Amino acid sequence: MKKNLLMLVCSALAVQSGIAADSPKGPVNTGRLAATSAKANPLLAASRLPYGFPEFDKIRNEHFAPAFDIGLKQHSAEIKQIAENKASPSFENTIVALERSGRLLSRVETVFSNLTATNTNPVLEQLSVELAPKLSAHQDQITLNGKLFERIAALYQQREQLGLDAESLRLLERYYTDFVRAGAKLNAEQKEKLKSLNSQLATLGTRFSQNVLKETNASALVVDSREELKGLSDSEIQTAAATAKSRGLDGKFVIPLMNTTGQPLLATLENRQTRQRLYEASVNRGSHGGSFDNRQVAIDLAKLRAERAQLLGYPNYAAYGLQSETAKTPEAVNNMLGQLAPAAVKNARAEAAELQKLIDAQQGGFQLAAWDWAYYTEQLRKARYAFDDSLLRPYFELNNVLENGVFYAATKLYGITFKERKDLPVYHPSVRVYEISDRDGKPMALFIADMYARDSKRGGAWMNSYAEQADLFGHKPIIANHLNIPQPPAGEATLLTMDEVRTAFHEFGHALHGLFSKVRYPRFSGTNVPRDFVEYPSQVNEMWATWPEVLTNYAKHYQTGQVIPQNLLDKVSAASRFNQGFATTEYIAASLLDQRWHQISADAIPSDALAFEQQALKQMGVDFAPVPPRYRTTYFSHIFGGGYSAGYYAYLWSEVLDADTVEWFKENGGLTRKNGDWFREKLLSRGGSIDPMESFRQFRGRDPKIQPLLERRGLQ
Ligand SMILES: [Zn+2]
Repeated sequence: MKKNLLMLVCSALAVQSGIAADSPKGPVNTGRLAATSAKANPLLAASRLPYGFPEFDKIRNEHFAPAFDIGLKQHSAEIKQIAENKASPSFENTIVALERSGRLLSRVETVFSNLTATNTNPVLEQLSVELAPKLSAHQDQITLNGKLFERIAALYQQREQLGLDAESLRLLERYYTDFVRAGAKLNAEQKEKLKSLNSQLATLGTRFSQNVLKETNASALVVDSREELKGLSDSEIQTAAATAKSRGLDGKFVIPLMNTTGQPLLATLENRQTRQRLYEASVNRGSHGGSFDNRQVAIDLAKLRAERAQLLGYPNYAAYGLQSETAKTPEAVNNMLGQLAPAAVKNARAEAAELQKLIDAQQGGFQLAAWDWAYYTEQLRKARYAFDDSLLRPYFELNNVLENGVFYAATKLYGITFKERKDLPVYHPSVRVYEISDRDGKPMALFIADMYARDSKRGGAWMNSYAEQADLFGHKPIIANHLNIPQPPAGEATLLTMDEVRTAFHEFGHALHGLFSKVRYPRFSGTNVPRDFVEYPSQVNEMWATWPEVLTNYAKHYQTGQVIPQNLLDKVSAASRFNQGFATTEYIAASLLDQRWHQISADAIPSDALAFEQQALKQMGVDFAPVPPRYRTTYFSHIFGGGYSAGYYAYLWSEVLDADTVEWFKENGGLTRKNGDWFREKLLSRGGSIDPMESFRQFRGRDPKIQPLLERRGLQ
């Protein structure tokens, strides 16, 4: 059974995560048709490569449409067989059979969704538009199948008498709830209405994401002269010139946009006009007419979601979405965000006052604007802590960060080891593959490191899987991390910012969650946990980026090999609470905006997206112009194109658990195998197989406390 696609998102954008794919050791269920065509179409048979690694060197655009066709048909036939089975329903012939079904489709979908996110092209984009409603209809065909639901419901009624172990019982309950939430109890007419809504939503969501990608590429800032780029490093200017050349703009300079409202180069561009132009190119994305405008798409999505929620018996979409999260209700989320927002904005205003002082001292003669924030913050950081990001970067060379930082910490904590494999075909030459061995030395997984930005790749950073652990299939995981680090000019080292270093550790935290999964059913594998829990292990893993023993192992000057000086480290650490008012406010503003769009009822949908946004920010007291939301409505892919609708609060929600866990590691001696093994056993290995908050309690020995988070963010 195909799970609802779990969306794993990180610092910027949602991407559909893969579903367990066949490994050569798993039961092969491709059928005769598949077997005979497999030579011509590599998607139709289980890969013969180790771990079932996709045969990227053989997969072509034209293989996907026929593979989807066969996969869909095959899955439908399997579902029919389960639903119409003459034997009375049993856990094995219904629930386990559903878990086993749809494996070809899963495999194709996994490769497809990964490629459209990481190395897309117009053919795949077009296919994606065509497929969205088909896949949504297919999902409906399963969840709205009356006979199938009768079998699940019958089992659910007698669940206490079936003699099931805890994980199996949980699986049965999960199936029942999933079907009910997908509309299984609706009447025939309502089911038709729901199908129509689902199909429209799928199409619109795909369009939203594609618009964001195209618009972000199209909105890159074109600059005529080197003079206007004053403040950038030679290497950054060279990159801008090369980007211009690759776009047929010889002699000019192009600054591509990152996903978020804030753009990294705003911190160093000296020319205020260039800053303003860059900022405006960013915030105006999707809202200035043209074919990639997302204003109406966002409104339509909000409206259809509200109607869908109402049909299913909920007052609004947020109430529907949050029911299956650990937060449970919109009130709980409003309460948390509402409590923290005033303190965050107060801190941001105090930071703004400091920046204004600096502008005035330099006789700037203007009021601080959003495009000035990063620039003066960087100056203040230099003045106050005597360092800036450019001093750090030579110590953060990509390979060092990955192999001697991220991997090193994992080896210390969990005893796992890494070995690069160059024999497996990759979908882009810059992608690298590692084999991971467990603490007993036995190979346990493959890890794909896809670190560089390119036009064919979506923005942000995320983790996904090509194969998920599940004892039912005997799969070993294939897990990928994706970042968007700008590619340096040919022959130059890739030097990361502190943020990018943290992101690398963050994404690997998700990877560990997938890697250490030890469950029976795919439905519960690794990161298949509520959204507002899934960011917790990844955030915990960020702590090792600045842990002295780890840092001194990877932060070595890329030319001299000299370890980062202690005094620079002390400054980094002293600066860690710097600018937290800004960071917390831009995040909370985006979270509240997400809630507003999803807490409206179907009859109260606005007609002007930007006016609604402005009004919402004002009502919630986060309309502080120098600190705009981290994402504005028209490029907020997390919530309109991805899986974080009514769920962007999840990062902060997870951070409560994260900050409390960081305290635990510190109390217990930090970077040790004992600590790592405990975290792995009690938390990382559980996936969704038990209640996530219960796994936290077993790990921590008590409920989470919010104090460590408040301290970390200066929100006392
Ligand atoms: Zn994440």
